[in-house]
Amino acid sequence: MNKNLQQLIEIAQIDKESDALIPAIQEKRATLDKLIEQKDTLDRTKTLIDEERQEANLAIARNETSIQENNQKIENITKRIKDGCSDREARTLSIEEDLCKEQIKHANQEIERLNKEIDAKNAREKDIDKQIKELESSIKGEQSQASTAIDEIKKKQQAIFAKKDKCIDSMDQKIISFYEKIRKWAKNTSVVPVSRNACGGCFIRLNDNVLSALEDKNNTDITTCPHCGRIIYIAND
Ligand SMILES: [Zn+2]
Repeated sequence: MNKNLQQLIEIAQIDKESDALIPAIQEKRATLDKLIEQKDTLDRTKTLIDEERQEANLAIARNETSIQENNQKIENITKRIKDGCSDREARTLSIEEDLCKEQIKHANQEIERLNKEIDAKNAREKDIDKQIKELESSIKGEQSQASTAIDEIKKKQQAIFAKKDKCIDSMDQKIISFYEKIRKWAKNTSVVPVSRNACGGCFIRLNDNVLSALEDKNNTDITTCPHCGRIIYIAND
């Protein structure tokens, strides 16, 4: 096999090794990202609960004011009746008093309901806090684990890059740029062996001329598939 071709096969193998490491990094990050996203969602829920609780507290304050106001009205009515008034006036005041009592009853019911609501929110918040704490510890663990794993992968990657640089230095630069151009679209199938007389990339059968050029031991050219343009070679030469 000619030297250029041999080096190209080597370079293609190195690129393949390098690419194989990318999913490993992504996978490590994905687990961590998922945990962080879960925590963010819980943080947002907590903010929402806090806002709802503040609203409920404001509503309680409004109802308490209403109770105070109605109590004051009742006091005034009682005073007016005590001070003496006509029967007609007394009837009107009595109706007004009933209305005030009704409003106080309603306000008390509201306060009771709102307090129950706040209790439920507090319980939910406590539960969320617990979940957040658990997630934070998972994130911490995953972060240190992931960073160690990613560091290791990056070290491997650097070793691969160094190997590639060394290989490229000894090669014909025109051939390298030709290969890089093919790699842009063919990725890890840029240099492929011939299998059953067909291109190992597009699987289309090669004609006799191409096959004989590939089999010619004195041929120092780089052969490409006439159908797809990938660099092809006969394996185990
Ligand atoms: Zn092809």
